Amino acid sequence: MAAERTLSIIKPDATRRNLTGAINQRFEEAGLRIVAQKRLQLTRAQAEAFYAVHRERPFFQDLVGFMISGPVVAQVLEGEGAVARNREVMGATDPAKADAGTIRKDFAENIEANSVHGSDSPENAATEIAFFFSQIEITG
Ligand code: GDP
Repeated sequence: MAAERTLSIIKPDATRRNLTGAINQRFEEAGLRIVAQKRLQLTRAQAEAFYAVHRERPFFQDLVGFMISGPVVAQVLEGEGAVARNREVMGATDPAKADAGTIRKDFAENIEANSVHGSDSPENAATEIAFFFSQIEITG
């Protein structure tokens, strides 16, 4: 598999509990390189735009409210098959269903406050990376 990039977000439940370093260690141990990273407070409009694909889902407003409840860390991860690799390291959306040793199994609070976001396809990764980062902010 070729090296690729994916967009990761460490969510407010994790930044609140000071878990940024512990989560980053999981990425690095899995061979994912953090080639861009910044901590920011999303506005409601920004969170709604990022999650626009979910706007018809019943939990959309809850999700947006959660994502603006504290700072997030947006990052670009790079590595062999980075999109799929990151999804493996993250674990299932619902931590109760996530495999042992995954970030969500070990750190998530519940199905909404589940500590991390990761792009679900290379196409979405490109769009999501461009949402947060300009080219000059991403190193090799
Ligand atoms: P992901 O790709 O594993 O992050 O999952 P989805 O794309 O399906 O959902 C996006 C995000 O919405 C999840 O990471 C959760 O934070 C949240 N979410 C998903 N399902 C639910 C749900 O049933 N209830 C609530 N409150 N939030 C959910």
